[in-house]
Amino acid sequence: MFSYRHSFHAGNHADVIKHLCQVMVIEKLKEKTKPFVYIDTHAGAGLYKLDSEQAKKTSEYKTGAKRIAGREFVHPQLRVYQALAQTYIDNAYYPGSPQIAADLLREQDNGIVIEWSNTEVGNLKRNMRDSGFAVHHRDGFEALKALTPPSIKRGLVLIDPPYESASEYQQVIDSVMSAYQRWPQGIFMIWYPILTARTETDDSFKSAQSKSHLSQVMLNAIANSEIDNALKIELNTDPEGQGMTGSGLIVINSPWQFKQNVETALNELLPVMADLGQASMSCQWLREPKS
Ligand code: SAM
Repeated sequence: MFSYRHSFHAGNHADVIKHLCQVMVIEKLKEKTKPFVYIDTHAGAGLYKLDSEQAKKTSEYKTGAKRIAGREFVHPQLRVYQALAQTYIDNAYYPGSPQIAADLLREQDNGIVIEWSNTEVGNLKRNMRDSGFAVHHRDGFEALKALTPPSIKRGLVLIDPPYESASEYQQVIDSVMSAYQRWPQGIFMIWYPILTARTETDDSFKSAQSKSHLSQVMLNAIANSEIDNALKIELNTDPEGQGMTGSGLIVINSPWQFKQNVETALNELLPVMADLGQASMSCQWLREPKS
């Protein structure tokens, strides 16, 4: 049932944009002393070895997090993400979203990480054992319904499914819409892939086409909803390339001035992440906040 293993992909370009934005939201939430909750619906193993058989097979981190290693950035949250990732990369690890949250959350904050695969939840429990986080072995979509609204009113939900089956796109829409109804002030961050087909005769062509269509359906559903603040962020490291050349995030209830802040960070990151000197980014409102 769970063929996706994030250990093959840990630290790739998609992790870089996702984890940078995760850090940016968490750091913003930390500007107030009031506690917040962090919920990770598709947590993975939490921490990955970069010299594992899986990671060595693909070496995706080499065109992702490895590119930021040793860099001196100016943007404050890009510096936080870089420094955090660097301490792990120096020891041949890459931190997953649960580990990043565990490193950044404070005593008063609350972390809940959810994983459904038997293998990965074992790894997650081991990696999170000193974090104080609650680790749930269950379906992340069902958990999101059960856990919202949380008793702590401020917080971030990261929704990062593998999108192995077409139904996951609709599950994201349904679970986010219903969680937003119950918790309208929650910040929801949804990751999605940007795929380019290899060749028209290749099987991946149909798959990439249908997944791009499903991502667009998801974006349209948010754009046509009643949600009062939804931002779309995309980073494509090789717009002329093939396969998963980039990825995007939908951020619902993005914090004050988050759009400008992300644009500044991505402008600094872009030349570092570019394959063959090319990369593109965009940051657009799907639903512009009223006010
Ligand atoms: N968020 C992680 C990070 O950034 O480090 C990576 C997560 S990985 C992309 C997706 C994970 O979701 C996999 O470990 C997979 O086993 C898990 N998964 C798949 N379907 C799930 C479901 N319905 N509920 C919870 N976890 C699920």
